[in-house]
Amino acid sequence: MISCAICEHIEGEIVWSDNILRVVLLDHQDYRGYCRVELIEHKKEMTDLDEVLRSKIMACVFKVEEILKVIFKPEKINLASLGNKTPHIHWHVIPRFKEDAHFPNSHWGEKLREGLRQAISAEEKKELIRLLNQSLS
Ligand SMILES: [Zn+2]
Repeated sequence: MISCAICEHIEGEIVWSDNILRVVLLDHQDYRGYCRVELIEHKKEMTDLDEVLRSKIMACVFKVEEILKVIFKPEKINLASLGNKTPHIHWHVIPRFKEDAHFPNSHWGEKLREGLRQAISAEEKKELIRLLNQSLS
């Protein structure tokens, strides 16, 4: 029996899902709109998947990136897939702003300022869910 944080507990709010992938919104006041694309099945590496599934995941990641760009107009979008602590395929999709707590460092890097302290608004969340459903379902 493996112990895996993603299998055991859904962090954040599911804003879109099918039976293969889900997009979760990590409610984070330093990183408004921070989403994660998670493979529902426990798999460790992208190369453990067939090409069709790999492409599906990346298409979802890029769609989330596009939608976050439209809604939040960030300075940059960061995409990251590490999984050293949680070896279950998931992609971080993080809108970054010049005023955020770590910019231009990685959001896991050294904090440089207080940051935005601004959570996603109800309207922004509604729009995120609408656009995800429109483009992924
Ligand atoms: Zn897992």
